[in-house]
Amino acid sequence: MMRWIGIFSALWLGLANTASSQTVVRAGRGIPRVDSMCQRFQQLYVQIREESILVDSARKTFSDIMFGLRTKFRSAEPLRLDSTRRDSLLSRTAYFSFPLRGYGPDAIGGTRGSGYQAKGFDLFDYNVRGSHPAQDIFITDRNQDCIDDQTDRPVDVLSMTAGVVLAIETAWNAGQEYRGGNWIWIYDPILDGLWYYAHNNAVTVRPGEWVQSGQKIAEVGRTGFNAFKTRSPTHLHIMYLQLQSDGLPLPQNTYDWLLAADGQN
Ligand SMILES: [Zn+2]
Repeated sequence: MMRWIGIFSALWLGLANTASSQTVVRAGRGIPRVDSMCQRFQQLYVQIREESILVDSARKTFSDIMFGLRTKFRSAEPLRLDSTRRDSLLSRTAYFSFPLRGYGPDAIGGTRGSGYQAKGFDLFDYNVRGSHPAQDIFITDRNQDCIDDQTDRPVDVLSMTAGVVLAIETAWNAGQEYRGGNWIWIYDPILDGLWYYAHNNAVTVRPGEWVQSGQKIAEVGRTGFNAFKTRSPTHLHIMYLQLQSDGLPLPQNTYDWLLAADGQN
């Protein structure tokens, strides 16, 4: 694990140097700053949720932001384009961390990942219901106080992979109908995809922050319109969207990655 972090840090520093030298070359049409991309993403996601943006224009804005992120984090490009190299990297190293500290695949809902239902999903149309392109991972919390019945402590949500935090919600309250509650979006430049963690209680990262695989990003909660209801056992909702060449997202089942992840009990 430490070795992997070392390798990645080297890549990262190399990237930072390249970026600064090329900024000079590209003076006048510079790459947007990461924080401005985060702001645009946050704004777009809120607009989608509030249905204050047309679906086509949401798609276009999303794709623009993703192309900006790809340019900014360009060290990932060879990996993104070379799937063989990428697969071998993922299998050789401890790339994925299980996203709940102290838990493992037994806590995943459904049978062998059957909770994943991608059919009909459209990130840009908040009215589309019925799909669940995600895995739910449950904690032991009979009295639904978000405190683990076994450890008497909150359960940490850990980032599945390294990446940059794009956007967070921290102000959900029980009167809101929004389904994700307090969510986190993270862009992983190696996979060239987006992670979404929903229903959190406390969120412990900020937009623009770089997180490592296995780093704490939140504590499991019950935020969100359905997750707050008594019939819903306390869980993390985790989704991964693979970016396509046009910069648009396609959900991918993370079940195999969860099985292969590090840090399980
Ligand atoms: Zn879910």
